[in-house]
Amino acid sequence: MEYRQLGRTGEKVSVIGMGCWGVGLSKNHGDWAGEVASLRRGIELGMNLIDTAESYSSGRSEELVGEAVRECRDDVFIATKVAPPNLRHDAVIRACRDSIQRLGVSYVDLYQIHWPDPRVPIKETMSAMEHLVQDGLVRYIGISNFSVTETEGARAALARNEVASNQVEYALTNKSVEADILPYCVREKITLMAYSPLAHGKIAHSIPSDVLRKYGMSPAQAMLNWVTRNDQVVAIPKASNVRHQEENASSVATRFSAAEYDNMSSA
Ligand code: NAP
Repeated sequence: MEYRQLGRTGEKVSVIGMGCWGVGLSKNHGDWAGEVASLRRGIELGMNLIDTAESYSSGRSEELVGEAVRECRDDVFIATKVAPPNLRHDAVIRACRDSIQRLGVSYVDLYQIHWPDPRVPIKETMSAMEHLVQDGLVRYIGISNFSVTETEGARAALARNEVASNQVEYALTNKSVEADILPYCVREKITLMAYSPLAHGKIAHSIPSDVLRKYGMSPAQAMLNWVTRNDQVVAIPKASNVRHQEENASSVATRFSAAEYDNMSSA
């Protein structure tokens, strides 16, 4: 596994992490052992970055992440998120404490604002985030789905901390962040955490088969390799299936050439 610094923090996170949206859905009727096993396998393979949110499966995703990391909490980097209805000062504090309880941990590594809400002053939300850092409940502050202008507002609202990451949608099939958010993150040393990097499972068919053959990669692996070709990017595919998790963990064992990346971008 390859590791990258998160923002300017000095913290190393795996370039391929594990997304947990949809983990713990009630349609599985209480049978979530496979999802927990998949997370544990990913951890064994060096994927230390785990992304969840208070809103995923009404909190059950966080509970299952907690179960998966029970024996190895200090070896993983847990990122969770506060949802837009909870962006007022006291609600942020309460939401974080609730997440910590569901996760069964004593702190969260990265606490992210899930979506911006222009109705709540960012200064108020960030003041609560800084209290959480001061109290040792949160190590680093992140944002998600923030435009460049919103990111600048978030950074200006912080008195003592930095925005470590912006989690946004980025995949071979959706390159819109390349217009402005990615160059901004690269310039400012903010990690771009690529969500839905496998296009929700709609794996791209456009990748030239000779390149796949040359590197012995599946199209899904090539998508993850492509999306993390810039040093400032990490990706968080979701895999509830152990075989998928193993495939994702080995997707960056080798790197394509610059020309091959360019061909994939324009295919
Ligand atoms: P995704 O990771 O792009 O795709 C997940 C789908 O791909 C699942 O159906 C999964 O199947 C399948 N898959 C995984 N590995 C595969 C492989 N090697 N080969 C073939 N198929 C594979 O979609 P996502 O869940 O939308 O995004 C990933 C994570 O990003 C989320 O879980 C969440 O943590 C985060 N996210 C954040 C936001 C936000 O607003 N911040 C929004 C969306 C997502 P199995 O599950 O059956 O293995």
